[in-house]
Amino acid sequence: MNKTSALQRLNHTFSLGTLFSIPFKLHWSIIPFFAIIPWMAYRNHMSMTESLLLLLLMILVLGSVLLHELGHAGAANILGVKTHDILLSPIGGIARLEKMPEEPIEEFKIAIAGPLVNLLIFTVIAAPILLLTYIDIVEIDWTMNNLAQPIVFLSLLAISNFILFLFNLVPAFPMDGGRILRAFLASRMARQKATKIASLIGKVLAAALMILGVVYMRPIWTLIGIFVFLMADMENRQEQETHKLRQFLASAICTQDYKDVKLYTPMLELIQMHFSSDERNFIIRDQQNKITGIIYPAILDDAMRIKENIQPVASYVTNRYAIVNVQDDTLQIYDALIKADMPLALVMDYGELYGVIEPDRLLDVMRNKEIA
Ligand SMILES: [Zn+2]
Repeated sequence: MNKTSALQRLNHTFSLGTLFSIPFKLHWSIIPFFAIIPWMAYRNHMSMTESLLLLLLMILVLGSVLLHELGHAGAANILGVKTHDILLSPIGGIARLEKMPEEPIEEFKIAIAGPLVNLLIFTVIAAPILLLTYIDIVEIDWTMNNLAQPIVFLSLLAISNFILFLFNLVPAFPMDGGRILRAFLASRMARQKATKIASLIGKVLAAALMILGVVYMRPIWTLIGIFVFLMADMENRQEQETHKLRQFLASAICTQDYKDVKLYTPMLELIQMHFSSDERNFIIRDQQNKITGIIYPAILDDAMRIKENIQPVASYVTNRYAIVNVQDDTLQIYDALIKADMPLALVMDYGELYGVIEPDRLLDVMRNKEIA
């Protein structure tokens, strides 16, 4: 029926509930991965119990990924950054943070927290196995048919967590190791340059993996290599874009496209000004000349639609507007204006109105990356 429905279905996620008021979601594409269970069961002549244990193992590994993401979210929370949601997909978990702190030490703390959770799980499970059992690990028959042996089952869970720990520390975006490397470099140089170097190191590692995949005929390695290469490249592009956007300040983007009017002005006068001199945004001030709110085009339209009953300005005025500082950069304005879905941003300079920015104006500047 509608054009986006196919795309929406492609992006469909299942809610797993909330934990610490963070919604957990599962991407549908992870479900076919469970098809590996009947396939392995058939290949290894596994019993029903063993097959169910394999399913349990997969769920527990998925749970470990979830706890890994919760580690990131927890560290972010301590630093005052909220987490939108946590998504589990076949390429791993993603904790979507409200924003990534740019302070290197903070980015480092958030990035390292995830892998440390897996190291902790590994230690908690593996330590007693290694210390309390006299079974020689080497002598265990590591086949799927021995899943019912607690030591085999727990060891596999421990090893999975150790692999998650190591894999995430690979210094390439989008792995946590890439962020840790960038944070380390950014503590010594500009973030923009640090990202460039971290991205390059990631690309070299990815290229090496691609080549190894070809040499050892492991197409999956090559695929992962291509994926990591593209992600490393994207992270660098985004950072360079961000850096470019950051160069524009509110003082340079804002316009004087507004008119100051008093609260007692009749609304009809505003509508007339809108038609005669194309005024769009009105800053409404009280007797003491303090800003009490704004009137923006949509409100004018609404007022005109019911023109037989036009009320005084006071009954239309709204305080739905963003306030930014002359020193704020494009991204900060974006957060305050577009993300918060505000019709107008007032640019303030020492408590005085300096100018206004309309959403379209900001999007234009961001799109063209230049100030007209
Ligand atoms: Zn992580």
